[in-house]
Amino acid sequence: MTVTGFTPEQRDAVLLRDGGMCAMRGTHDQCRGRADDANHRLNRGAGGTSDRGTGKNGMGNACAICFVCNGLIESDPELAAIARHRGVKLEQGDRPELVALWSPFFRQWVQVTDHALYLLGETDLTARPEILDTETGEIAL
Ligand SMILES: [Zn+2]
Repeated sequence: MTVTGFTPEQRDAVLLRDGGMCAMRGTHDQCRGRADDANHRLNRGAGGTSDRGTGKNGMGNACAICFVCNGLIESDPELAAIARHRGVKLEQGDRPELVALWSPFFRQWVQVTDHALYLLGETDLTARPEILDTETGEIAL
């Protein structure tokens, strides 16, 4: 199976959606602040992300990131933990559209799907809100 990344059009759409800001902005001094690329929240190698159409390369599985952070969150355990808390990096089995993502641009938690971004209204970075799975009525996290 060939695993491909985001298309240039998707990358541009992610950068626009996320206000051009790196999702790890503010976590360490080396972050460029401005995003350069689209990050896979659930790594491509982790397989399918949803049985409801959210693909590995779908917009719901993407967030804007800078080159520096994109490398560091794979190698620095402390930053990796922050990335997991912010919804920037997910665990296998997570459904990206149901895990809140911290948006430095909106300064609040958001829900991103393949087709939309929803402001969740929670501005406390320390408290990631739970997203209700509207199909099952259960809390997704
Ligand atoms: Zn960064």
